[in-house]
Amino acid sequence: MLGALALLGFASRTIPNPAFTKAVYSGPLEFKASNAFDKTRILSKSFPDRFTWSTPRKNAALWLKEELRKLGYVPHSQLFEETIAGKKYTDLENIFAEKPGTEFPEKKIVIAAHYDVAEGTHEGAMDDASGVGIILELARILSQVPLRHSLVFLFTDSEEYGNFWGARAFVNQHKAEIIAALTLDFIAPGHQTGILQLGDGIRKGFAPLWLRELALASLNKIAGTGEKVTELTGLGELVQRALLLPAADHGAFLEAGIPAINWVGQTDDFNTVMTEIHHTTKDVMERLEVDSFALPGRAAETLIYSIDANPDLRSQSELSMMSYWKISESRYFSPTIASIFAALLFIPFFVRVYQRARIEFQKAANTNFKSVLYFEALRYTQVSLALLAGYAALLLFPGIGILTRYEQFPGTQKTPLLYSPDLLVIVLLLAAGLAVYGLLRRLVKHPEPSTFSLETVYVFYSAVQAIITLIALLANSYMAILVLLFPAYSWSFVSVHKSRSVNLILLALGWASFLTVLIYMTTIFHLGVWYWFLILSASYGLVSPIAAILFLLTVALLIRIATRLLANRSFAR
Ligand SMILES: [Zn+2]
Repeated sequence: MLGALALLGFASRTIPNPAFTKAVYSGPLEFKASNAFDKTRILSKSFPDRFTWSTPRKNAALWLKEELRKLGYVPHSQLFEETIAGKKYTDLENIFAEKPGTEFPEKKIVIAAHYDVAEGTHEGAMDDASGVGIILELARILSQVPLRHSLVFLFTDSEEYGNFWGARAFVNQHKAEIIAALTLDFIAPGHQTGILQLGDGIRKGFAPLWLRELALASLNKIAGTGEKVTELTGLGELVQRALLLPAADHGAFLEAGIPAINWVGQTDDFNTVMTEIHHTTKDVMERLEVDSFALPGRAAETLIYSIDANPDLRSQSELSMMSYWKISESRYFSPTIASIFAALLFIPFFVRVYQRARIEFQKAANTNFKSVLYFEALRYTQVSLALLAGYAALLLFPGIGILTRYEQFPGTQKTPLLYSPDLLVIVLLLAAGLAVYGLLRRLVKHPEPSTFSLETVYVFYSAVQAIITLIALLANSYMAILVLLFPAYSWSFVSVHKSRSVNLILLALGWASFLTVLIYMTTIFHLGVWYWFLILSASYGLVSPIAAILFLLTVALLIRIATRLLANRSFAR
C-alpha cells in the first residue's frame, strides 16, 4: 500500500502542457454567439417534441438539411434502425455535411450534437438544440475556410434512446476515417459558469491525452474571468474508467477507438439543473442566455483549427493512448504504471490470503480439511450457478417479451421505466435462481462435514476472492479498485478470532463503497431505482458480460460467507 503511494510521486509523468498551449490556434475567431442562439431558438420553438420516432423529429431533419443547403453544403442523411420500448423503427436519421480537406481529405474531424429530445422534454433547448445551434454557426463560419483535414458537421438522432444509437450508426460506417470527434451536449440554462469536459467511452475507450489537453487548452484560451474549465481526474477519472457509462454521444466514438470528448455547460447549482430542468418541459429557450454560447462555440472553432494544424501532436505514441490515468491536472500514469499501481494496492491482500492459506494447509492433517473444502466448493458453485442462471434468464427476458425490449439501454435519464421496478421480473429472477439452486442441490448430494474448522471455510473463500480479484484486475483494473478493493481488505479479515458481529460489520463494509457509488450515481444522474438500474443494465448488455459474471461470483461469495456467519454452528479446531 505504501509502495503504491510512493509510486504516485515517482512514477507519474508530467503532461507537456506548454506544448499544448503553444499548439492552440490564436488567430481571429468568427463565431457569433447570437447566431448560434437564434438557430437554437428555431429548433426549440419550431420543432418541439422531436422524439426520435416522431413527425416533429422528421420535420426537424428536413429543416437541418435546408439549413446546410443554405450554407452551401450537400446534406446527407443516414437512416438506421432501432428497437425502442418493444417497437422497431427503421426510419431514424442522422443528418450530416462534409467539407473536404485540402491536404488530408480522407481524414475527418467530426463535430456533433443530437437533434432528438428525450421523452418528457418539450423544447429541448439546452438538451440539445443548443449544441445544434453552435454547430450550424460553425458550419457557417467555416464554409469558406480551407482546412487540411475534412470536417464533418453531424446531427445525430436517437442520442436519448439506445445509448447513442445514432452516433453508433455513424461511427459504424465511418470509423476508419475519423481522427477526432467533439460532441456538444449541452449549454447550461441560467448563468453558465464554465464547461465540464468528458472523455469516457461506452464499456471501453477513453479520450487520449492529446485531444483532452488540446481541448482544455482551447477552452482555457477562450474562457473569460468567472468561467471555469473542469474535468474529472484522479479519483473522479478512476470512477469514470471503472463504470464507462458516458453521458453523451462521445461515448460511441470512444467505444470504436476514436478520440472524442464532450463539453457540458456548468452552473453554480448544476444538481438543480439536472433535477428540475434537464429532460423536463422546463428545458425551454427562455432559460438560455446568449453569452453562454460564446465559450463552447469559440473554443470549438479554436480546437478545430488546432487539431487541423497539429497532426504531429496526435501521432506521439503515449499521448495517443486510451489507457493511462490522469491523476492530477498536470500529471498522469502511463498504462504500465497505472496497472502496477492497481496491482500494488492489492498486494497486501494477496499476501495475507496466501499466508492464511499456508497456515491452514499446515493444520490440514488434524482436521477433515479435504471434505470441508469439497463441501464449500460445491456449495459455492451451486450458489454461483444459481445466480448465473438468473443472469441468463435476464438476457432472455427482452427477447421473449417479459422485459420491454430496448437496444442496449432503456434511455434515458428520468424515463419512467427506470423508476418502476417490475415485480414480475424480480420474482421470475428469484424463481429462476432458486429453481436452479434447488435442482443442483438435488442432483449433487453431499453430506455436510459434521465437524469442521470455520477458519478453513473463511480461508477457502478468501482464496476464491483472490482469484476473482485477479481476473478483475486483468479485465479492468479501475473496476477492480472501485468494486473489489474494500471487500479485499474487509472480507479477508473475517475470521474465527473475531466475534460474529465484528465479522458481520466487516462483511457489510466491504460492499459499502460500491453501493455508495451506485446509489449516488443513480440518484444524481436520475437513473432510477439503483437495483432496478443494475438489473436493466445487465439485461440490455450495458454492463459487459465479464463484469456481470465477476459481480455475481462476488455476490455468491457474500452469500456463502454470510450464511456461514449466520449459521452460528459450533466448530472444532
Ligand atoms: Zn443530450
